[in-house]
Amino acid sequence: MNYFSHYRCTQCGHEYDPAELRYLCPLCSKDYKAGRPLPGILECVFDYSQIAKAWHKYGVAFPDASPTQKMEELCELFSPVSKEYYPNLPVGNTPLICSQSLVGETLFLKFDGLCPSGSYKDRASQLVVAEAKRLGIKEIVTASTGNAASSLAALCAATGIKAVIFTPASAPEAKLVQIKIHGAELNLVEGSYDEAYAAALEYSAHHECLNRNTAYHPFTIEGKKTGGLELYAQMGQVPEVIFIPTGDGVILSGIAKAFYDLKEAGITQSLPVLVAAQAASSDAITSYWESGVYHDALQPHTVADSISVKTPAAAHLAVKVLKNSAGMGVRVSDEEILAAQKMLASRTGIFCEPSSAATLAAYFRTREQAWIKDRARVVLMLTGHGLKDIKAVSFDE
Ligand SMILES: *Cc1c(COP(=O)(O)O)cnc(C)c1O
Ligand SMILES: [Zn+2]
Repeated sequence: MNYFSHYRCTQCGHEYDPAELRYLCPLCSKDYKAGRPLPGILECVFDYSQIAKAWHKYGVAFPDASPTQKMEELCELFSPVSKEYYPNLPVGNTPLICSQSLVGETLFLKFDGLCPSGSYKDRASQLVVAEAKRLGIKEIVTASTGNAASSLAALCAATGIKAVIFTPASAPEAKLVQIKIHGAELNLVEGSYDEAYAAALEYSAHHECLNRNTAYHPFTIEGKKTGGLELYAQMGQVPEVIFIPTGDGVILSGIAKAFYDLKEAGITQSLPVLVAAQAASSDAITSYWESGVYHDALQPHTVADSISVKTPAAAHLAVKVLKNSAGMGVRVSDEEILAAQKMLASRTGIFCEPSSAATLAAYFRTREQAWIKDRARVVLMLTGHGLKDIKAVSFDE
């Protein structure tokens, strides 16, 4: 059973039967050229009244359901692919740690470094791999800064599907090792992530396969939604503020979608404030949010490789969801990121990637502002495991 109804273009609102197309809105993406934010990203629309009924029934049948059971039920109700197609490698259900020791006030830490391949990307890969299985497609291609690729490689290995990867040669070694040991085809791109993105689009234009490029396949957003659904189930209510490490803006858009879906089904009433934590050199979404005018990040070189993006694929959607949530973009320096990474590791036991530590750095930048003071439910999304990039760690004071 699943309640996925149809696609809707996030730009022009046009609706499509999912059997008709796979990726972008054909009307908005006619003139698309690689190297620009994606136009016409599609979102999944569900049969919300049926979901509301099913959720009510579940509550009556299982009044004592645990947060974990509720989380699993919600993720299934709001999934666009039936669970029977999911890879045999569990994803998600990651811990939410309530920490008093980190900054002296309560912060909730959602640690997705504990997903099978060590990052939040597994949530998107899980759904795209399930979709390939449903369609009988034997090959999936993706561009990646490293984590999307290692994630796709792992979930494809669990399913017997071939993964084809385009990633910059500069990706951290551990991520390249993951890609190789899971048996994926690794194509190193001399250039940046943005060139890898274009190469993967070119590949799927000429091969029978599914493309998992972030935001390009609508299920990447749906997969990244599950972290938001889990937060709601784990906290028993909507968080007030969520800090999200942001590169292409798809985790941000996915988490926003979780709370739109819950509200649409009448399960919740409010939306959280979303904060995009960006490396200062890779700040295209933050400057777009500030100025209303899009331009590329000029020199996206940061120690936080997972959020190093010149042209964010989901720039338009990300700025829209920041505005809808009364949120903001926040820039942090590499020094702040590395200090935050060390603080998290030494005070909470969580060793996360630099990208993830950007959320704590952004929290420090904003904690004195009126809109966040006295908020009780503030979450940092810690999206990747620190062991993925040990070269980034600095022990100099
Ligand atoms: C990809 C990634 C991000 C950023 O997600 P976007 O959807 O590109 O904004 C953050 N943290 C980690 C660990 C990632 O792998
Ligand atoms: Zn459109």
